[in-house]
Amino acid sequence: MTDTPEQADFRASVRLFVQREIAPHLNAWEEAGSFPRDLYKKASALGLLQLGYPEALGGTLCSWEWRLIATQEIANAGSGGLMASLFSHNIGLPPVVAHGSAELQQRVVPPVLAGDQIAALAITEPGGGSDVARLHTTARLEGNHYVIDGEKTFITSGLRADWITVAVRTGNPGAAGISLIVVPGNSPGLTRTPLQKMGWWCSDTAQLHFDSVRVPLANRVGNENSGFRFIMNNFNGERLLMSAGAVSFAQLCLDEATEWAHQRKTFGQSLVEHQAIRHRLMDMRTQLIASRALLHDVAARFEAAPQDPHTVADLCLLKNHATSTMQHCADHAVHILGGMGYMRGTKSERIYREVKVMQIGGGATEIMKELAWRQLGAGAP
Ligand SMILES: Cc1cc2nc3c(=O)[nH]c(=O)nc-3n(C[C@H](O)[C@H](O)[C@H](O)COP(=O)(O)OP(=O)(O)OC[C@H]3O[C@@H](n4cnc5c(N)ncnc54)[C@H](O)[C@@H]3O)c2cc1C
Repeated sequence: MTDTPEQADFRASVRLFVQREIAPHLNAWEEAGSFPRDLYKKASALGLLQLGYPEALGGTLCSWEWRLIATQEIANAGSGGLMASLFSHNIGLPPVVAHGSAELQQRVVPPVLAGDQIAALAITEPGGGSDVARLHTTARLEGNHYVIDGEKTFITSGLRADWITVAVRTGNPGAAGISLIVVPGNSPGLTRTPLQKMGWWCSDTAQLHFDSVRVPLANRVGNENSGFRFIMNNFNGERLLMSAGAVSFAQLCLDEATEWAHQRKTFGQSLVEHQAIRHRLMDMRTQLIASRALLHDVAARFEAAPQDPHTVADLCLLKNHATSTMQHCADHAVHILGGMGYMRGTKSERIYREVKVMQIGGGATEIMKELAWRQLGAGAP
């Protein structure tokens, strides 16, 4: 897909932002396990946080193409963790914007898009994340408040979030008993504990414990017990953006490996003069161009008909394809870089550690295949 002149300008401005505000500090942020909170404000000043949100809430309505550009360029910094935390509002806010009351939207959305506050989404529980319909955290109504008890885990921006869109059980067992409630991060009874991870080091990931946390009834998103559908729809956008990130990370690995293969010499030749190395690079490119083509195809169809079952199915399969390409490229890049690929500081080393979360988070590979199969209708792939 070719950028329009306006999109090309936007892409250039995000690229400059990455070069100036992120790249020089990224290794230090990764080692420190977080990035400064003022990066949200800076990202908002450039218009990055607002993409896709209604203007009445401080956003900028735009097509998915623009959001893909922002994701691709931020991904070019080479840290999935930075991307996940900086853009955690893109999973926390959409249900509020789509189904929350006007009053709730006004309270929550503008300060987040302005970069003054942070939003997160909490679905996964220690007892399981894939089987959302079986979640255990409860919210019982007491007068004008819900009282929430339970536990959430692996929550991106969980420690810092000012607003957490939490999936809770308000009704019977199963998908029909789930609601979404927006919980203020400073609520009494909410305990947040940081988690240590294989990758995504600069991302804030937390365990959340809810001990009789009281939240106003007005913070419920949409009707009671209709949260499951909101959650499923929300996953689609997340999966598209994750796929865009995965393709960019794969490209970074190919770029780094190619550059290294030109400069590194073994047996009197540069690596790239060895056929086996060239073939690895071409295998990487083969997967990459296929994933990129699928990404743009699915993105265009998602733009036109977001609920179309074939599109939703292919979105799930795209996530698998793109993250498998990322895995393939990270593996080959680290191999081509040799010992250097095992050292901290190369992009390939970090991306290699970040592959697994891309294949598990937002729906694990197996779940993507199951969902795709169900969307297509059994027997009709
Ligand atoms: C760094 C990080 C950040 C995250 N951020 C968030 C967040 O912000 N908000 C949030 O709610 N969650 C978040 N998650 C959680 C993530 O979405 C879940 O880890 C994911 O959905 C899988 O759930 P689980 O870990 O409980 O694995 P489980 O559901 O226990 O599944 C374990 C594995 O079993 C396999 N599996 C499961 N079911 C089936 C099946 N039916 N058939 C075959 N195989 C199956 C899959 O390979 C799966 O990976 C994050 C996770 C990580 C690691």
